[in-house]
This record gives sequence, C-alpha cells and structure tokens, in this order.
Amino acid sequence: MTWSLELTDESAAPVGVLGGRSTYPAPSLTRRCVCCDVATGDAFALDPSFGSEQSAGQLRIPLCAACADHVPHSNLLDVAVSTGLGLGAVVLALGLFYLAIQPRDAWVILRVGAGLALVSAAPWAARHARVRSLAARGHHGRFSLTVGPGKCWIRTNNPRLRDELLAAHGERIRLARK
Ligand SMILES: [Zn+2]
Ligand SMILES: [Zn+2]
Repeated sequence: MTWSLELTDESAAPVGVLGGRSTYPAPSLTRRCVCCDVATGDAFALDPSFGSEQSAGQLRIPLCAACADHVPHSNLLDVAVSTGLGLGAVVLALGLFYLAIQPRDAWVILRVGAGLALVSAAPWAARHARVRSLAARGHHGRFSLTVGPGKCWIRTNNPRLRDELLAAHGERIRLARK
C-alpha cells in the first residue's frame, strides 16, 4: 500500500523559493533509510522543484548505500510518464472524435495514441514490478516528494516513515489519500 501525506506548514522553517514567490515546508526526516529502515549517514539530495522556473533548494533524503540504486532520486520519471500518458490520452480522444467523421485517418491517430500510452507506461510498469519484488525483502522502494506553495506531498509505501512523519508534524500533516 502506498500512502500520500500532505504537509502544510507556514510556521516552521520553510525551504526554498518556487518561482520567486513562495516556499514549501520541509518534512522532518530521521537518519533512517526511507527504503529499508536501517540507520544511515548516507542521504541523497533531492530538488523537488523540477519543472518550476527556479530551483527550490535541496532536501536531504536519508537513503542507505544498499538502497541507492532502487529508489528514484528525482521526480523525472513520474513527470515523464504522466506527460506521456496525458499526451496519449489526448491523441486517443482525438482519434475517437475522428472515428465518426474520417474512420481511415482515425485508426492511424488511435494507433499513435495507444503507442504513446504504452511507451509511457512501460517504465512505470517496470518500476512497479521492481518495487513489488523488493517489498518481499523488507524494502519500501516507493518514495516521491512533490511541492507546491506552502505544501509538500510525500508518497511512500513505508509504514514506519508514514508514522514518523505523522508524529513529527502533528496537525500540520494529514493522510491525503490511500
Ligand atoms: Zn536502505
Ligand atoms: Zn531498499
């Protein structure tokens, strides 16, 4: 199961600047690996502002050396997959629209749309399979962090991390959805 936590925090020390306008709250993380829970001094730097005009500054995410290769260090893949899927959906909708008017052209468009969606979903499916096989060995390989003005969303399948964040931020954090 993957949880999504929404952190709203205007009072605590905010991190960075998004588009020159606003800040986002930094989650309070311990020194335990976000994936396998071991105590570690290792961490990776995550800049969650990908896609905005300006760097939001980096967060240090605790991740042990053994887990370094199976936890994504940026939201790049998520952004690419959702962009590709969105584009595929638009092309498919266009194809369906033309189906009534120009059936021959419509099939070409539908094929392109389906291809786009499949190509975009492939890396996501591969990672999903990887996360499942790692879970059997006590790893929680699903971790992502996105930010908006005054907000920070943490997605994780690690119940220890979820409970720690809920305890650390009290009423400023909530489970956004399961
Ligand atoms: Zn680890
Ligand atoms: Zn791991």
